[in-house]
Amino acid sequence: MQNFRDRAAAAYDAERFRQQGHQLVDQLADYLASATSGKALPVLPWVTPDESLARFPASFPEEPGGELSPFIARVLGGSNHLHHPRYVGHQVSAPLPLAALCDFVSSLLNNGMAVYEMGPAVSAMEHNLLRWMAGQLGLPESAGGVFTSGGSVGNLTALLAARQAKAGYDAWNGGSPAGPPLTVLVAETAHYSLARATKVMGWGAEGLTPVPVDANFRLRPESLEATLAAATRAGRRPIAVVASAGSTSTGAFDPLEPVADFCERHGLWFHVDGAHGASAALSPRYRHQVKGIERADSVVWDAHKMMMMPALITAVLFRDSTRSYESFAQQASYLFGPGSRPWSDIGLRTLECTKEMMALKLYTCLSLLGTRFFSDYVTATFDLTRRFAERLKASGDFEVPVAPDCNILCFRYTPAGVPASELDTLQARLRQLLIQRGDFYLVQTTLPSGVYLRTTLINPLTSDAELEALLEALRQAPRNVAPGSEIR
Ligand SMILES: *Cc1c(COP(=O)(O)O)cnc(C)c1O
Repeated sequence: MQNFRDRAAAAYDAERFRQQGHQLVDQLADYLASATSGKALPVLPWVTPDESLARFPASFPEEPGGELSPFIARVLGGSNHLHHPRYVGHQVSAPLPLAALCDFVSSLLNNGMAVYEMGPAVSAMEHNLLRWMAGQLGLPESAGGVFTSGGSVGNLTALLAARQAKAGYDAWNGGSPAGPPLTVLVAETAHYSLARATKVMGWGAEGLTPVPVDANFRLRPESLEATLAAATRAGRRPIAVVASAGSTSTGAFDPLEPVADFCERHGLWFHVDGAHGASAALSPRYRHQVKGIERADSVVWDAHKMMMMPALITAVLFRDSTRSYESFAQQASYLFGPGSRPWSDIGLRTLECTKEMMALKLYTCLSLLGTRFFSDYVTATFDLTRRFAERLKASGDFEVPVAPDCNILCFRYTPAGVPASELDTLQARLRQLLIQRGDFYLVQTTLPSGVYLRTTLINPLTSDAELEALLEALRQAPRNVAPGSEIR
């Protein structure tokens, strides 16, 4: 029996790491080849949550034993395959393998980044990458920000700064009782994380004031005045308007210019939730979708959505970078020293204390692959989605509720002979059948007019032919899969 020091030496042994690492990369490369070929795998190897629990029980040996490869093989076999060209589901990227390698480096180095000394190289990368991203959006030289763990945390971070800037009282130290109750105006189609953020800040249900949307699910700027007046009459102090650059359900882009004008007129903070769609700025063809984003006070932009990065890496950008110190207007003097505000102690401005070396993967991929690749990626996926929408509209047996603004598209199958009252059930049933069979992974959403299939064409390996195959699969699928179904 070895003592602990010997065991520790074995666990940290560089030669063993080299061997396991080579094996693992080989295994993952085989996996990647199989997933991207689109042949060998079901997209999602469907099992029930309980079956999955049984496969990964909480029972661990006391003594070491077992090999890595079979273990990883079980994980690969029980996971959703986002590199499969028939993955057309949620807005989660098929990550660049190069970026995955960078995450591997990040995990080994574990430079936690709260303070400069705990991540000198990656702190510099983060700072300059954010400035580059701000430049892509057309924000001024004064802009800057932080990377954080996802768009949800990003929206909270931005709204905390908005509150310090616009509440008219020190809500950070005084709490909500220190002034009138606050609210933000948000399109009724906005992501749920905005409601979470305002509730986390203690503003309650009225902390979010919904603004109506038009037939294309875009915020109606002409409704802003009345919405503001109603919120004020109800005793709320509106401090900000949030526009979506790519709403989650339909991918609709709110018109940013009129919202910016409105915010300017009323002295409100202008936040853009560009978690999905801020990347449109990278594409000369689609940059017009985010016209006006350069006037925002803050922007959230997920690189793990439309920049092919693995989770997580979210930019929170501020037009005036010093605002980012106000999200968490707090001093932890044991870490940061009294009263100091260096750009380099990034943890001053993030919800996280320790965080991953997020910037590393994006900085490296931009450096090695070039910016053109990212710009073309956005253009190609948006183009593909437009062609798919045209194909659906011409089909006669599919319906597209709104033309796509980006690479998110909702549609439904409306074959002759199925009464309108049964169309919702049909979509849900077909989706369930396709994902359980594993031939596609797609999702669904409920719009005012009913249940729709929803696709995000986020994998650059998805082609027109795959989408044609999706339509054929929907047409060929048995329509009466559930026992007792009235649909035949
Ligand atoms: C995905 C998304 C979010 C949430 O981002 P996460 O990174 O998943 O936390 C917020 N807003 C919009 C518009 C999104 O599409």
